[in-house]
Amino acid sequence: MEKKIALIHGDGIGPEIVDEAVRVLNKTADTFGHKFAYTPVLMGGIAIDETGVPLPDETLKVCRESDSVLLGAVGGPKWDKGAGNMRPEAGLLGIRSALGLYANLRPAKLLAPLAEACPLKRSITDKGLDLLIVRELIGGAYFGEKRTFTDERGFKTATDEMKYSDFEIERICRTAFELAKKRRGKVTSVDKANVLDTSRLWRGIAHKVSGEYPDIDYEDMLVDNTAMQLVRDPSHFDVIVTENLFGDILSDEASMITGSLGMIPSASLADGAFGLYEPVHGSAPDIAGTGKANPIATILSAAMMLRFSFGMQAEADAVESAVNKVLEAGYRTADIMSEGCRLVDCKDMGGLITDNIA
Ligand code: NAD
Repeated sequence: MEKKIALIHGDGIGPEIVDEAVRVLNKTADTFGHKFAYTPVLMGGIAIDETGVPLPDETLKVCRESDSVLLGAVGGPKWDKGAGNMRPEAGLLGIRSALGLYANLRPAKLLAPLAEACPLKRSITDKGLDLLIVRELIGGAYFGEKRTFTDERGFKTATDEMKYSDFEIERICRTAFELAKKRRGKVTSVDKANVLDTSRLWRGIAHKVSGEYPDIDYEDMLVDNTAMQLVRDPSHFDVIVTENLFGDILSDEASMITGSLGMIPSASLADGAFGLYEPVHGSAPDIAGTGKANPIATILSAAMMLRFSFGMQAEADAVESAVNKVLEAGYRTADIMSEGCRLVDCKDMGGLITDNIA
């Protein structure tokens, strides 16, 4: 099979981790008889420096002509003082919206070799930690009208409108139920229906969609309770579906309880097979260029690309199993290092995983 992949290296550790994921993809292509063609494009701080905008039109054009997009990370202190629409993160919001990437999938799974890195008690994690957060990605407060003004009393005031329409809620709920069919068959829809109108609309539609999936175990949960249950008993959850802002916060909490931000991949999907794949962490400017970056989240994001955009299940399994083998053999980057393990840098970790693709 031949596939076109747009590569966005981005800023900070972005280029280092994307290079390792490409090595793994190339070995996978050789092993399974595929051909992947890459087109590097600019986004984020480097795009501001080189073109004056965080998301050049050329980048969107190449992404639209590709089968999927692999992204490292964007942002850094150098660009923090720019106006909102001139920051690297504006590129991120812009690309999600322009490509219609409304479903963000973030798995949080505790891998056996990393059990020690999990900050939760063994008595909690022994019950299992393997959940998937399905976050609505192009609606809600991040995309609503924003205003900073002086009100009639003379106070400086800001508002961010949180807005959802029925079709946006319905399609993300359907994504969650479809994914639950392939997992343990349970969906938790998270909202704040005791306070917010958007959440009451959300809950009504989630109930309606749940009626179409009688075999899926369904529940609603308030977001504050969900934040608590995630650390009290994460084994309670299989698929969590929620709106943009709640999903942003809960998915970082879920990543942290698996041990390291450097381990968690994500997929952002549009209708059909197109998707953008990226690690959940940022550009880690504090360790950029030191070789300390953990490339595993990006490599696992590439595995999600193989699975969700290219329908290559065996190939995705091969990448995930190579990651497991390397961790089981005791190799660790600095962020997941523990006693008795062997410390390796970003390139070595990428090389070891590449060598274990079979
Ligand atoms: P961060 O995720 O970049 O870093 C948080 C901490 O985790 C740092 O100590 C970092 O060294 C460490 N870390 C992150 N990824 C790692 C990896 N792969 N291996 C080893 N250690 C890793 O978050 P931050 O420091 O809050 O943000 C830094 C920049 O990244 C900011 O400009 C922010 O806006 C941006 N950001 C971008 C994205 C994205 O591109 N999707 C997401 C979040 C933050």
